[in-house]
Amino acid sequence: MRRKLVAGNWKMHGLNAQLGEVEAIAAAAAATPQVDVALCVPFTLITRAAAAAGAMPIGAQDVHEAESGAHTGCVSGAMLREAGATLAIVGHSERRADQHETSHDAWAKAMAARRAGLGVILCCGETEAERDAGRAERIVQSQIEKSLPDGASGDWLTIAYEPRWAIGTGRTPTLEDIAAIHAIARAKLRHMVGEAAETIRILYGGSVTGANAAEILAVDNVDGALVGGASLTAAKFVPIIAAAA
Ligand code: PEP
Repeated sequence: MRRKLVAGNWKMHGLNAQLGEVEAIAAAAAATPQVDVALCVPFTLITRAAAAAGAMPIGAQDVHEAESGAHTGCVSGAMLREAGATLAIVGHSERRADQHETSHDAWAKAMAARRAGLGVILCCGETEAERDAGRAERIVQSQIEKSLPDGASGDWLTIAYEPRWAIGTGRTPTLEDIAAIHAIARAKLRHMVGEAAETIRILYGGSVTGANAAEILAVDNVDGALVGGASLTAAKFVPIIAAAA
């Protein structure tokens, strides 16, 4: 039985003024022990967010694939650990689009995060053009094939299916479409890692809100949610945590 995970992705949002939201979300997480909750914040906020979060895990939104070296502006897994992060998102579609990251990059980053002792949320998902062309399932299979880190297991790895066209748009796939992709992703994991596939959580992400969370989280093989916009305030995020309980 996989526990539900509700993870927030604050993207490029979050200053000291928002630490009260971290505290309020952490309080709700502590009051909902049957659900795992995490918040992935900007690098600059990790240490202060971790101090405000108590037992709730704080994550990063990226990690460099190298352990150290001449990589101006980049941050390693060991740095994230020292700052107070316990997990990292890799392969988010905004980084694939803005920083031209590939599935191979996501694999390398997941491996680096793992070496540093971080948990990993590995993102995949099709564009709207790919869905319209009937290629969504193939794209997700291919992304998982190319980016799944070696030794994948649910004690440190989570997959997030995030159709790019659903991120920040207020649009979501039908529940049937979500079920279809999550089933395909689970089958791909089984093919690649055998029984360990049953331990790996597959989150849905893309315009999850308090209003649609319960029905999405009830879909087969949906083991939680990766939430962007609606994770920025406790008022919007706590109902999603409640829906997962
Ligand atoms: C995300 O950034 O991972 C995301 C799912 O964003 P939103 O919830 O805002 O669509």
